[in-house]
Amino acid sequence: MNAEALQVQLLRYAQDLEELMQQHHRLQDQHHMLLKSIGRESQSHDMLPALLLESVPLVVVTDTRGIVLRVSDGVASRIENHTGELAGRAWDACVLINQQDAVQTLLRKFSGGTLDTGGVLLQLRLIHGVDQHDAGIFDALVLKTKRGRRFEICWFLQAGTGQVRAPWQVQQDLLATVESDKGLLMTDPFGTIQYANAAFAKITAYPVAELVGQNPRMLSSGRHDAAFFHAMWLELLDSGCWSGTLFNRRKWGQIFLEWQSIKLIENLQGDVLSYISAVADLSYDESVNRPHRQPGHYDTLTGLPSRMQMVDALTQALVLARKAQEQVAVLFIDLDRFKPVNETFGRAVGDAVLQEAATRLKAGLAQGDMLARVGADEFVAVLSGTARVQQAQEVGLALSAALAEPMDVHPQEIRIGASIGCACYPRDGNDMITLVRHADAAMYGAKRRQQRFSYYSAARDLHAQPRLETDIWKAIEQDQLRLLYQPQLRSAGLGAIRGCEALVRWQHPLLGAVPADTFIPIAEENGAIVQIGNWVLEQACAQLRLWREAGVLDLSMSVNISVRQIRDPGFEAHVHQVLTQNGLPPEMLELELSETETLQFRDSDTQHIALLGSLGVRISIDDFGSSFSSLSRLNALSIRSLKINSQFVQNLAGSADARVISNCMLAIGKVLGIEVIAQGVENADQARILAGQGCKVMQGYYAGRPMPAHDLLVLARKRNALPDASRLTPSLSD
Ligand code: C2E
Ligand code: MG
Repeated sequence: MNAEALQVQLLRYAQDLEELMQQHHRLQDQHHMLLKSIGRESQSHDMLPALLLESVPLVVVTDTRGIVLRVSDGVASRIENHTGELAGRAWDACVLINQQDAVQTLLRKFSGGTLDTGGVLLQLRLIHGVDQHDAGIFDALVLKTKRGRRFEICWFLQAGTGQVRAPWQVQQDLLATVESDKGLLMTDPFGTIQYANAAFAKITAYPVAELVGQNPRMLSSGRHDAAFFHAMWLELLDSGCWSGTLFNRRKWGQIFLEWQSIKLIENLQGDVLSYISAVADLSYDESVNRPHRQPGHYDTLTGLPSRMQMVDALTQALVLARKAQEQVAVLFIDLDRFKPVNETFGRAVGDAVLQEAATRLKAGLAQGDMLARVGADEFVAVLSGTARVQQAQEVGLALSAALAEPMDVHPQEIRIGASIGCACYPRDGNDMITLVRHADAAMYGAKRRQQRFSYYSAARDLHAQPRLETDIWKAIEQDQLRLLYQPQLRSAGLGAIRGCEALVRWQHPLLGAVPADTFIPIAEENGAIVQIGNWVLEQACAQLRLWREAGVLDLSMSVNISVRQIRDPGFEAHVHQVLTQNGLPPEMLELELSETETLQFRDSDTQHIALLGSLGVRISIDDFGSSFSSLSRLNALSIRSLKINSQFVQNLAGSADARVISNCMLAIGKVLGIEVIAQGVENADQARILAGQGCKVMQGYYAGRPMPAHDLLVLARKRNALPDASRLTPSLSD
């Protein structure tokens, strides 16, 4: 494939990717809405006090008037003494006289009937008991929470050490007692991170050391605009707290949805001391603590992110790397000998091998690395950051060595191995697709040379077999092809469906949807088109039979064919057989040949076309106007229809030349007695102009995009059942 074709291919992939990502964003947004509607927000609202209540040893809970409701075991054993219980007593009576005002001020602050408030940090000297027993100095973080319908004040206490401690130290010590999968983050008043717990590091994939000293902006997903953050800050400063869902970004690029509850912590004088956030990762199902099984996002066998997730994560990692001028390494890992193991020992053992392989790979990667399963026995790891990239070979060899160790999944010793290819950004490519392709090519190279690890080499790749060329052969056998059907509309009456064109789609297991424009030329070049073309013909005709059996008898089926198919011995016999098998009148099948291909016709090709014509099938010239075929040639080929190249159609409204050309083509059709179909009709203006010029059949997004068989049946039933479409809908030519 030349560089230009490759560029076009990549552009198409990029468009697919864009679509995929938009879909992904839409899903996340829906997820977001769903969470809101099931009321998860209100449950998580006071996440911080809830987390501290579970773990801080010394807690006193009062009502909003300051009457002690209950105390933690730690308080019971440490502060209460034989003189009596704290419960039921006024909390301000338990502090030194000169501090009672402070407690009252605090209680007033917390007395309103809403949770919208921050926290206060202060020091109390506690006394209690009839003998005014001195229980000592305590640091107290005071937060409001809700229990059932009642508001409560939580006094999280820490015994003073006799030394003056910085407020951040006090808060950090309290936060450090929390053991949870919820993230905790504390910043100073200027937003610099001072503390992050291990769960926060796990959620964001940043090691704690990389978080401290930074601004939480580093996690920004780019999904929220300045107005969003402005409103957030206003609310936070105004009420002392903010809760809501946020999209943030993990270190390796993946955007995730989180619930965040932020509290502003101040001292008694009202100076801001810090902001504490509690964070729940909503992309994880907390009830089982494993990823949601969103179809397509996670691999059900290994629990690893799937290809879709990898695409998203790697794309985002590249955006970040570009900004930070960092490097990214993509490791393509292909298991050796997996297939024979699977075939010899059975699927259950094969599954266990894959799970074990995933576990070993995960264990060999660092916290911020990303690992995805992208094929049956293929994995992709992404290492971000220049320092990590420099270790790529070391990491790759270690992973390969780990996989080569015997696996204890069957009484008989099972050994597999792995070949690993590596491509690095920016050296080996600038975009996701190029990098994965190059890492894949490097892996193939490693396999061929029986190496465990290989870097991508552009020089070697020139000689390597590009992946699509080999994979296209497996597409049918692995059920990766699908047909869509694009309706063709009669312009008179603007209603009836004349028929449809079968358009093939390839869902590549690694690269996703590969456009027909990309893989059909490859299949034509390497000969796979014969096999694919036969499959398309068989599927399309079988589908037409089903529609006819469902009572829709008047539809025709157009199938694209390539010159290589015509040259394949026995093609005419095959067409005949498929028609007979499905009981189809031959004139209901139309075979489309592109005009460019007819230019390469040999005499024998013309004879084959004549034979096909004699079977009764209609021959159509596709993309008419893209080349310079002579009218006599068209006549010689016994053509029954022409399809106007969509380029002319798309310029119709704005270009007089295009209108003249389409008019000429329609006139040629009239003279030669050939039906002319306009393709690529996207809007009503184009349809009206064409109908005015006498065009009777149109195909394009205006009539309908390529659609699944069932949708076409519904459409045809609706349109063709109308008693007289021309009376119900004004004609386009009106
Ligand atoms: P084609 O035969 O000219 O098919 C029409 C192409 O234009 C289709 O692209 C279709 O999705 C697209 N299209 C339809 N309406 C509109 C519209 O209103 N606006 C625009 N911009 N595009 C429109 P697709 O499916 O990607 O197919 C591309 C080409 O791949 C086809 O061009 C055809 O040459 C080839 N192809 C598709 N399926 C087969 C097949 O089964 N066998 C062979 N040999 N070639 C195929
Ligand atoms: Mg076509």
